[in-house]
Amino acid sequence: MNRLEPQTGAGFELKEGDLLVVVDTTGGQVSDLFAVSADDTREWLSSGRTIDYANCIYQTTNDLLYSNRSRPMFRIIEDDCGRHDFTLTPCSQQTFDLLYPELHGERHPSCLENLATGLAPYGVTDDQIGTSFNIFMNVWTDDNGIMHIDPPRSKPGDRFVVEAQMDLFVALTACSAEKSNGGICKPVDYAIVPRQEDGPST
Ligand SMILES: [Zn+2]
Repeated sequence: MNRLEPQTGAGFELKEGDLLVVVDTTGGQVSDLFAVSADDTREWLSSGRTIDYANCIYQTTNDLLYSNRSRPMFRIIEDDCGRHDFTLTPCSQQTFDLLYPELHGERHPSCLENLATGLAPYGVTDDQIGTSFNIFMNVWTDDNGIMHIDPPRSKPGDRFVVEAQMDLFVALTACSAEKSNGGICKPVDYAIVPRQEDGPST
């Protein structure tokens, strides 16, 4: 397992068929996921396409996460928690400027910066990073459309596993936003499991 220390992130490649295993080691911690196609970085993970085709704002085991070109990028293989968010953008410096007035505009680590740093080696800039898949983030909307961000439901050791459906450049964070993580930002563990070559193909 690789560890993302609190309020950090990483970038890496996944080949089609590889698994990405994300573990909330301590419980109650969000991890933002974003990806682009390795063949053309103008193809990116699309919240809108995914929610449209699923007709559901919550994704779990066996669900596909689509690109802006309507091709599957990930399939969810395993989901111990069952509650994630795909409606909100990754926290950014401006998020903290606007929603954390007590910081008085102080510099704050953010998922957008960490995702952009992770994807920079692949030529992806922060302007290309849209809505992230926010693993373990607990967001719900009431009848008036008011959105609520509650502490994650994830328990220590909860796993979330996706299988890459194409070759991808990926970035993953341990979310930096205190208010999304029960007040304390914690680490996230992850592993890449290469595709199993099971016997001769036919
Ligand atoms: Zn964040």
